[in-house]
Amino acid sequence: MSMEHSELDTAMAKLKQQNIRLTPQRFAVLEYMYTCHGHPTVEEIYKALVTKYRHLSVATVYNNLRVFKKLGLIKELTNGDSSRRYDAVTKEHYHVTCTNCGVMVDVELPEPSPLKVQIEQATGFAIEIYQVEMQGVCPDCLKKSNQLIVN
Ligand code: ZN
Ligand code: MN
Repeated sequence: MSMEHSELDTAMAKLKQQNIRLTPQRFAVLEYMYTCHGHPTVEEIYKALVTKYRHLSVATVYNNLRVFKKLGLIKELTNGDSSRRYDAVTKEHYHVTCTNCGVMVDVELPEPSPLKVQIEQATGFAIEIYQVEMQGVCPDCLKKSNQLIVN
């Protein structure tokens, strides 16, 4: 059994525990979040699922995301471009976003996060939650722009 399946099972068990009915559409949104390996917006999730679930609406997707968020199954990210994205990785982590193609990538850093430690030392705060997004050009876009220069 793959990692993401056991995470999906855990999430489903949590919904059941809270007596939240797992409708086909709710399951589809949950499964998408745990298998997309990205940071989709409501619209992206809707577009990916509406071909299979023809009665799905953006509002339904959003309402389900809200339920999942409330239970701590996913995180809502508010980014510099003011788009709301959703993340199935709920552990605190950093993101880098490409200013060219928009891809958002998770950054794995040693624990505890060096930036968090530095900020705690500088401010005396006990940091509990953080959301860090750095922006730049991703390796794929860098490669493409280099090719344009070469050719
Ligand atoms: Zn890019
Ligand atoms: Mn992430």
